[in-house]
Amino acid sequence: MNESKSTNITWHEGQVSRTDREKMLAQRGCTIWLTGLSGSGKSTIAVAAEKVLNEMGRLTYILDGDNIRHGLNSNLGFSPDDRTENIRRIGEVSKLFTDAGLIVFSSFISPYRADRDAVREIMGEGDFVEAWVQATVETCEGRDVKGLYKKARAGEIPEFTGISAPYEEPNKAELLLDTNTQTVDESVAQIVEYLKTNGYLG
Ligand code: ADP
Repeated sequence: MNESKSTNITWHEGQVSRTDREKMLAQRGCTIWLTGLSGSGKSTIAVAAEKVLNEMGRLTYILDGDNIRHGLNSNLGFSPDDRTENIRRIGEVSKLFTDAGLIVFSSFISPYRADRDAVREIMGEGDFVEAWVQATVETCEGRDVKGLYKKARAGEIPEFTGISAPYEEPNKAELLLDTNTQTVDESVAQIVEYLKTNGYLG
């Protein structure tokens, strides 16, 4: 689905570079890619981390599953091919926002390892920070914030990750956020510490 159909196109360089933008922002752009089951805590952690970073004077942006499916990806469903295309497009948007110098939180189940690796592949070294938001199906089902697990168990939602569709666990995530055992604040602190230690915050 992602083969290029465009020919005779060239990339136009501007006169303002990513480095110029990053200097202005006093930060290094990157994408924190939050992957994990529905209800594992991706959105909650992204929102809380963004608030903390904003208070530190950092420019951030959240890309979130449901929001993107309302607009950019409204023509995609949950079949394997559509999930792949969903992640491919979000990867490209993440790449652009990262190039703009932002600290992007991309919060998507993104259950297929190959899809996540493909995003890592298109981004520069250090631009893609994979954060596995880890929680067991039991934990997520116990929370069931949106009532989706109940529906999935009743067979009302086909291809539901963790129930009737697979989740392929990351094997090279830069961050492991275990929400079975740690609080939201602890996960946020872990992310901020990672950004500080690795030079993203200037
Ligand atoms: P996702 O974006 O992964 O689908 P959400 O963030 O929407 O998950 O939902 C996670 C739910 O779990 C929220 O209601 C949140 O308050 C709750 N929760 C309980 N404990 C934690 C924790 N330690 N980390 C993150 N979320 C938690």
